[in-house]
Amino acid sequence: MTDWQHFAAELGDIPSITERALVRQKSRDFYWYSPILKQLLDSKSADIIVCPRDEADVIAATALCAKHRVPLTVRGGGTGNYGQAVPLNGGVVLEMTALDQMIALEGGLLTVQVGRKLSDIDADTVKLGWELRMHPSTKRTATIGGFIAGGSAGVGSITWGGLRDPGNVISARVVSCEETPRVITLTGAEVAGVNHAYGTTGIITALTVAMAPVQPWRDIVAVFDRFEDAAECAMSVGEAPGIAKKLLSVMAAPLPRYFRGLDIPAGKHVLLAMISAASLVAWREALTRFDGIQLSCIASDDASGGRLPVYEYTWNHTTLHVLRTDKSVTYLQCLFPANGALDLVGEMRAAFGEEVMMHLEFLRIGGRVTCSALPVVRYTTEARMNEIIAFFEARGVSVANPHVVTLEDGAGHKKVGDGQPAMKARLDPYALLNPGKMRTYQPESV
Ligand SMILES: Cc1cc2nc3c(=O)[nH]c(=O)nc-3n(C[C@H](O)[C@H](O)[C@H](O)COP(=O)(O)OP(=O)(O)OC[C@H]3O[C@@H](n4cnc5c(N)ncnc54)[C@H](O)[C@@H]3O)c2cc1C
Repeated sequence: MTDWQHFAAELGDIPSITERALVRQKSRDFYWYSPILKQLLDSKSADIIVCPRDEADVIAATALCAKHRVPLTVRGGGTGNYGQAVPLNGGVVLEMTALDQMIALEGGLLTVQVGRKLSDIDADTVKLGWELRMHPSTKRTATIGGFIAGGSAGVGSITWGGLRDPGNVISARVVSCEETPRVITLTGAEVAGVNHAYGTTGIITALTVAMAPVQPWRDIVAVFDRFEDAAECAMSVGEAPGIAKKLLSVMAAPLPRYFRGLDIPAGKHVLLAMISAASLVAWREALTRFDGIQLSCIASDDASGGRLPVYEYTWNHTTLHVLRTDKSVTYLQCLFPANGALDLVGEMRAAFGEEVMMHLEFLRIGGRVTCSALPVVRYTTEARMNEIIAFFEARGVSVANPHVVTLEDGAGHKKVGDGQPAMKARLDPYALLNPGKMRTYQPESV
């Protein structure tokens, strides 16, 4: 039994929080999208929040956790969906947001501490002609470390693919969880050991990522009478190499009705896009070809006062907009194979109607354009949810089940990378990092 007051004293001047309500608040993420995880995780809490100010603090706090053999769960912005940052067995939550320094931007490569918010990164680099290749729709609240350790793809993935695609994340500086922590640098393919590993394989303190040249993006809202036209328009623009785009998202009616601030007419299907000003002529031609009507086209801006950036209606934000008025829904995360993706989407819509309201995000996987889906599901029971998942999977649609907490069960197309158990054995010999999230890992010595 750990004496947490004593533990806090041993931390010396490293800031920590033991106030119960705040500890509970910082032990939560967005797991409650899932009614199944809500039941499972509502009662979970850390015992203490530790807030390192720099890498030396990370090393000292980690050494203390290893010495006392207490669980350590890393936290960035706490916007993960799978209960990724929720400590299942109490212990320490290590909040990384104070490690927020830009380190270098050279030749299109950015090195940055992990706790920096993604929108703050772009705010600095855009002035120098560079922007993040991709970001989650939580750009304004998530950290770069949390995105790489917990996310997978997002705004920009239609051009640059996912985080795991070679060339996007160049290197990671990682602290091991031992009495005498080591700091190692993972480069190139080795980064997969900590990428989408939920912080189970090491504590990342700094990252080097490849950037993209800045483009004059436009936030665009377009509507269609037929869902199929919206989806085909998105696919066609996605596949057009000459059209510079950052976002292509399609939501079936009635989902757009939940988008406060966009005023989408009832019954319309929507295509939300970010297109470079240089590509607007070709974009409008595509819209006309598929009978789309453009409702608005304005300069993209993260700091646009009361107006939400268009990306905050897309990716996992779509479900959030619905949940704000209808608590009976939840969602799924799927990936359609590139071959016949839109035919399969049609099949799923025909099978489930408004029980599974279709929301597509177009992205490039292995060089080919396809769509992932984050459909909003009218939730009834866990058994029914599993039936829906089984139906999708039986037709070749990969599902990353967001109603489970382990990497193995939830990862689907984001599966536990081959190198991750080996990385865990190397950097977390006592299995203290986010215990319970990598189900199949058994430590050899404890
Ligand atoms: C509304 C909404 C929209 C979203 N949109 C997207 C999207 O478009 N694309 C996408 O991929 N995801 C998306 N997500 C999921 C989530 O936002 C992303 O995974 C996000 O990048 C997490 O960042 P964070 O800083 O909040 O991380 P956290 O939630 O704090 O952490 C995420 C995971 O990473 C681990 N972790 C955090 N920092 C470190 C570190 N320094 N070292 C090791 N492990 C670490 C944590 O332990 C946890 O397991 C969305 C979630 C919500 C609620």
